[in-house]
Amino acid sequence: MRPARALIDLQALRHNYRLARELSGARALAVVKADAYGHGAVRCAQALQDEADGFAVACIEEALQLREAGIRGPILLLEGFFEADELALIERHELWCVVHSLWQLEVIERSALSKPLCVWLKMDSGMHRVGLHPADYKAAYQRLQASGKVAKIVLMSHFARADELDCPRSQEQLAVFQLARQGLVGEVSLRNSPAVLGWPRLFQNQQPSDWVRPGIMLYGATPFEQQQAAAARLLPVMCLESKIISVRELPAGEPVGYVARFVSERPTRVGVVAMGYADGYPRHAPTGTPVAVDGQLTRLIGRVSMDMLTLDLSDLSQAGLGSRVELWGKQVLASDVALQAGSIPYQIFCNLRRVPLLYNGS
Ligand SMILES: *Cc1c(COP(=O)(O)O)cnc(C)c1O
Repeated sequence: MRPARALIDLQALRHNYRLARELSGARALAVVKADAYGHGAVRCAQALQDEADGFAVACIEEALQLREAGIRGPILLLEGFFEADELALIERHELWCVVHSLWQLEVIERSALSKPLCVWLKMDSGMHRVGLHPADYKAAYQRLQASGKVAKIVLMSHFARADELDCPRSQEQLAVFQLARQGLVGEVSLRNSPAVLGWPRLFQNQQPSDWVRPGIMLYGATPFEQQQAAAARLLPVMCLESKIISVRELPAGEPVGYVARFVSERPTRVGVVAMGYADGYPRHAPTGTPVAVDGQLTRLIGRVSMDMLTLDLSDLSQAGLGSRVELWGKQVLASDVALQAGSIPYQIFCNLRRVPLLYNGS
């Protein structure tokens, strides 16, 4: 069997969830969209089910997958419904629903719901992607209330730049939100992972009944490019690993791999690993990207190919055929690999494919 695989540590997932609660002092929806950022939504939700206040997904297809696997409790659709006929399913499966546009509000007003919905009314406080304009927010809230179709309205917005620790934009967005929601009663939900980790002081006035929406931090990766104290308390959940399947000794001046992207400057011992971009390892990871072999750090060399990649084993005399390779995990952080490859940990997790996911910690 090919040795490439991703080990998923569910204890670490629970640790990170608890950290989100502890740091925020609020309730937390575990964001498990995009198959839990590549970690397997059903298994991750099952592991959190007993303690999570709820879950958040991108669409009804993802929510139904969780319901079919027996996940009870709140599931929020982060973009609400895409088509009006989803409302019947939202009602039947008791899903919570973001309303970010007037057309969605109108669909709810016209609907024939028998049970009132839980709506998270989203304001565009400055990200300018989805959400109601601050000037329209109060009227939308009042229309929802007057519709008789809604049991509860959570006041929601989303930050565009919370991962930039010296950027004033989050504070500006918060001020826009606070002004536009004045007089509106409801629980509040604003914070993603970088806002939970990086901006505790902005939210001192929030209530324990408010909600945070941690995603990437649950999986133990930092959303920040620089060191950050709270993020240092996260435990990596995924370990992407494989083995060395071939070793060769090259003299100086020999190319390795496609387009001779790497040429040995000295006699070099090259290890070939069963892992490539078809597994989701980033093709743009350059020579020098960190990798651990039997617990020792070394570097990627040459181009990543579809099924294989190459390492420099020159200084690792113990390493050889069959040595265990950690592409990312506890020793090599996914966020470091992502940074080297011009990506973000979110994307390198989501890109994972072909490798089996193996769980421990149930
Ligand atoms: C994906 C998403 C989140 C989670 O963001 P992270 O940065 O992964 O914590 C929170 N809120 C909304 C609206 C999202 O779409």
